[in-house]
Amino acid sequence: MNKHVIIVGTGLGGLSAGLRLASRGYRVTFVEKNRQPGGRLNQLKKDGFTFDIGPSFFSMPYEFVELVNDCGLKMPFEFVELDPLYTVHFRGSNKKFSLYKDIGKLSRQFEGIEPDFKKKFTAYLKKCEQLYNDTVDIVIKQNFNSIPAYFQALMQVNPKHVPVLFKSFWKQVSTYFDSKEARQIVSLIAFFLGRTPFDTNAIYTLLSHIEFTHTGYYNVKGGMYTIVTSLIDALSKFDVSFHYETEIVGYQSHKGELVSLTDQHGKDWKSDIFVINADAAFFRGSVFRRKKFSPGRLNKMSWTMGYLTFYVGINKKLPHLEHHNYFLGNNYEEYAQDVMKNPGTLEKPYYYVNILSKHNPGCAPEGHEALFFVCPVPNLKYKPDWSDKQEIIRSILDDFSERIHEDISENIVCQMEYTPEDWERAFNLYLGSGLGLSHTMGQIGAFRPKNYDEKFRNVFYVGASTIPGAGLPMAVISSKLAAERIHDFMAGIPE
Ligand SMILES: Cc1cc2nc3c(=O)[nH]c(=O)nc-3n(C[C@H](O)[C@H](O)[C@H](O)COP(=O)(O)OP(=O)(O)OC[C@H]3O[C@@H](n4cnc5c(N)ncnc54)[C@H](O)[C@@H]3O)c2cc1C
Repeated sequence: MNKHVIIVGTGLGGLSAGLRLASRGYRVTFVEKNRQPGGRLNQLKKDGFTFDIGPSFFSMPYEFVELVNDCGLKMPFEFVELDPLYTVHFRGSNKKFSLYKDIGKLSRQFEGIEPDFKKKFTAYLKKCEQLYNDTVDIVIKQNFNSIPAYFQALMQVNPKHVPVLFKSFWKQVSTYFDSKEARQIVSLIAFFLGRTPFDTNAIYTLLSHIEFTHTGYYNVKGGMYTIVTSLIDALSKFDVSFHYETEIVGYQSHKGELVSLTDQHGKDWKSDIFVINADAAFFRGSVFRRKKFSPGRLNKMSWTMGYLTFYVGINKKLPHLEHHNYFLGNNYEEYAQDVMKNPGTLEKPYYYVNILSKHNPGCAPEGHEALFFVCPVPNLKYKPDWSDKQEIIRSILDDFSERIHEDISENIVCQMEYTPEDWERAFNLYLGSGLGLSHTMGQIGAFRPKNYDEKFRNVFYVGASTIPGAGLPMAVISSKLAAERIHDFMAGIPE
């Protein structure tokens, strides 16, 4: 009989791992605490509007192509390339920066602001590309069996990059650009890692290469949730079953192997192999009761910021806005220094607005628009009380109306919101931290929660909380790395 795998969680990491294993003949059972699949890549529907709740674009689309090729399938969804990638608006200015991939077109927007922008940006991107090329295969797409093996891999990276390791993202960007506009716009991507350019290592400037030259950003025809529905569809062709509203809370083990997991109703789920897509640190602490991940130890780790997200349906169109729009203030450095910890910064927040119905008219009724707001906020460690959420949302909506010169308050026909408390409750995200453990040097590579279990030989981890890290393409890469681990386990190859 085929080996049986239980996968805990139906986030992108879990679904991708399930597809790789099912296509290789494993019998796969998914258990998921929520009513519908997708994890953070999820969807809300209300009053004729459809909202993607978390991810709104992704880079490295070829990782999805690799996934389906690996499973012998055809690409089940269609990519939509974004150009401009996004727009950036500064408070008190009517100038809109449109981030085109074409450097000539992009540079024209910095005329009179950053002399020689094109030359400087080209030099900056060249360095980012070198960082990407010299690390991606050696460090990012690798399983490490030990810390020495990880250091050995790092030693293979061209030593010319060493000085970068001692700089912040902001410092690296500031060595190339002088104007506040160029520095802020180019470093904005550090927020995509759930921290700020001031506390993100300069090695992550490789993301600028991914953003502008390598692949850019993509959306999916029909909305981001199409990724989930099409993966579920692909999985249904194999020996796979799904069990929703099933939360794992306990376990039984025997002689170094996990025998079964126990759900909230006391039902035991037995299997040969277990893959955990729930947060790899929090699950080890809360279910396996590991000391290294006890509440005290988890609290001392570095977690990314939280997100206040809200979903607004309006009964008019906003034709002058692009798909992705960032609204920044005039105190970037002060704001970024504070946003992780100081709830007071929420009086004048920075935020991002995604007009979902721009590329996907089906997301809103005719003549309406579906808007998705994301505001980076302190996680629950620094702001546990969210009773003021409606005031914060109101201040953002007022600010948005002022900046687009159109009062939308009278046009709102539907609104829903997720505070960090909701994110925590819905997906077991520790402290409501949107992207999980931060990508600090002590929490990446061999120092990130491993994708194999320390005690149980037949337990593996997949998703953004283990290697390589946060974001949709990384979750897909993690499924490849986890599948390799399982393959080695089945072949009797030790870690
Ligand atoms: C607001 C926001 C915006 C984002 N935007 C982007 C973006 O634009 N582009 C991008 O690439 N990335 C983005 N991300 C990051 C991206 O969403 C994640 O990196 C990715 O979706 C993580 O997938 P995953 O499979 O690792 O985990 P998850 O999606 O968290 O899936 C884990 C699953 O496990 C389930 N689970 C947890 N505990 C248990 C349990 N005990 N028993 C049973 N089930 C359990 C959860 O319910 C969940 O379904 C964003 C994240 C947020 C929060």
